[in-house]
Amino acid sequence: MRPLIELQDVHRTYRIGESTVHALRGVSLTVRQGEFIAIMGASGSGKSSMLQILGLLDNPDSGEYRIAGQSVNTLSDDEQAGVRNNVAGFVFQQFHLLRRMSVVDNVRLPHIYGGLKGDFRREAEARLALVGLEHRMHHTPNQLSGGEQQRVAIARALVRDPIMIFADEPTGNLDTKNSAEIMNILKGLHEEGKTIIMVTHETDIAAYAERVITMRDGVIVSDEKRKGGDRKGTAAAEAPFALHAGEKKGSLWKSGGFGGFMAQAFQSILANKIRSLLSVLGILVGVASVIAMMALGEGARLAMQEQLRSMGSNLLSVRGGSAKIRGAAQGAGAVARFTMRDVEAIAALRSLVKNATGVVSGNGQVVYENNNWSTNLEGAGYEYGLMRSAVPTVGRWFTREELQTRAKVAIIGVTVARELFGSANPVGRTVKINRINFKIIGIAPAKGFSGPRDEDDVVIVPLTTAMYRVIGKEYLSGIFVEVSSPERIEQAKTAIDGLIRKRHRLQEDDDTFNIRDMTEIQQMLSSTTETMSMLLGSIAAISLLVGGIGIMNIMLVSVTERTREIGLRKAIGARKSDIMLQFLVEAVGMTLSGGIIGVATGVGVSLLLSFFAGWAVKTSLYSIILATLFSVMTGLFFGLWPARKAAELKPVEALRYE
Ligand code: ADP
Ligand code: MG
Repeated sequence: MRPLIELQDVHRTYRIGESTVHALRGVSLTVRQGEFIAIMGASGSGKSSMLQILGLLDNPDSGEYRIAGQSVNTLSDDEQAGVRNNVAGFVFQQFHLLRRMSVVDNVRLPHIYGGLKGDFRREAEARLALVGLEHRMHHTPNQLSGGEQQRVAIARALVRDPIMIFADEPTGNLDTKNSAEIMNILKGLHEEGKTIIMVTHETDIAAYAERVITMRDGVIVSDEKRKGGDRKGTAAAEAPFALHAGEKKGSLWKSGGFGGFMAQAFQSILANKIRSLLSVLGILVGVASVIAMMALGEGARLAMQEQLRSMGSNLLSVRGGSAKIRGAAQGAGAVARFTMRDVEAIAALRSLVKNATGVVSGNGQVVYENNNWSTNLEGAGYEYGLMRSAVPTVGRWFTREELQTRAKVAIIGVTVARELFGSANPVGRTVKINRINFKIIGIAPAKGFSGPRDEDDVVIVPLTTAMYRVIGKEYLSGIFVEVSSPERIEQAKTAIDGLIRKRHRLQEDDDTFNIRDMTEIQQMLSSTTETMSMLLGSIAAISLLVGGIGIMNIMLVSVTERTREIGLRKAIGARKSDIMLQFLVEAVGMTLSGGIIGVATGVGVSLLLSFFAGWAVKTSLYSIILATLFSVMTGLFFGLWPARKAAELKPVEALRYE
């Protein structure tokens, strides 16, 4: 019959700096299924080293290890983890229970790494009943006595129905009474057919076994059978088993274990509330300030846009003359001359054009009593008032009727009003403009300077009055067009350009008129916004970097702190990717919570600002999604190294870590 376990001339040396310790110096051993073996020997004789190799927690430097005839020390780390999970159960002197989890969760932990679906609560309960602890299921390990903890550990070792149980000094930390209880459980398991290999240095504990192996200085010095030898062994020896479970490929994502991972991650985050909060503070503050500032920036941008619109951001100005030569065109009369017909035709482009008005400009000599002022005279259409925000707040705009009848009414700019009237109210007075009497009906709202030009040094009269009574021009100086929406400006320009070329029979390349818009102002505004968002972006980057480093730091601490936990998880079958995932989920869980609290804080702060300071704010969904996404990325990026570090730990070394 094929033996279950075969060790052949196994060597193991440990290197500590310069010196090497030969823990195993050529050990050969054969174990059949169903045996109960005690390994004895003085401290330092190599008992644990051999047990760790048998349990696949460690690999020999030379020699061969076969389970059921299959060589296993050449398997990859993850494959060995699978074998451990599948066929081995471990009981350690220090119990190695995870203290944050309830007893039942501890017992079913190996199932997370088993790749099978289900929550396995029933299995865990059954094993706890077996060790007489079903009534302590929901307690945490530190509410139990040492003996009880070791019984929980045995229940955990049994939950996957392993064929072998490895126990390293299982009673080493227990008193006589508890030791006896544990040994009776192990004996019972042996009678059920489990193969048990136990390390002990106490003779009365070894007495429970049916075969006692004694070691000295890394070699086996005696191997004796007791109590009728392999009496039990033969019956159980036939039981078939597989090293790997059939479909153990399934990743945690598929196996439904991922939910368990999330729960575990949050359990561990919550277990260190203050620490977790402090470590996500950087991310929290960063995200909050970015959200608040983006809301403010967006609010300011919208407010500016609104203001710009009221000033006429959708305005086009169509003028005769080349676009290349600013002002009037030079040369052989190459200037398009516009009439009211052109205005009407442009206004008829209904989907693109909201309003159109012609203007003429000229010089105006304004006289009131003894005061004389030379200013710009603007003849304007009725729509001009609204389009250019020239409707007076003091007085009124002229009516359509006044426009038709070429009425002699005028609206003056504040500069003109000041020069001619000082502080007196000019509305209702009569002035002479180019020696014609005009009645002043309003004062145009102040506009300030545009470049070197004083926009308030102006007199506005009805277009018809200007053309036919004052200046005597037949043609318009220009046409103002209000486009229906800012997005249509380019479209409108093209349409108007085509229309004018058609009406005036101009060639494509005739350069006798030009259409200008306010894009310069808009460009300026958008570049301001760009600078601002770059500034915000760098603040975000810096705070996320700092926050991320904080997370990395705390994750590294966490990995160190939980080295033994990692070792235990690996011992019961966690693969590298499982450990990696656990720590990544934890890091992302932290940064994501920080991000979400940060978003909430940021929104809160911007609402407070708008409420108390009256600032315009606009929180965009985009910034929220971006911030959340970034906090997740930060967690992934900065969690990666600690997670890798954890995943690379060797099970034995991690378990021994103090
Ligand atoms: P036992 O379990 O019989 O007391 P071990 O197998 O633990 O003995 O150790 C055998 C020898 O190997 C001892 O001398 C011990 O100091 C050494 N040893 C064990 N583990 C390590 C290790 N990780 N690094 C260095 N030396 C070790
Ligand atoms: Mg030992």
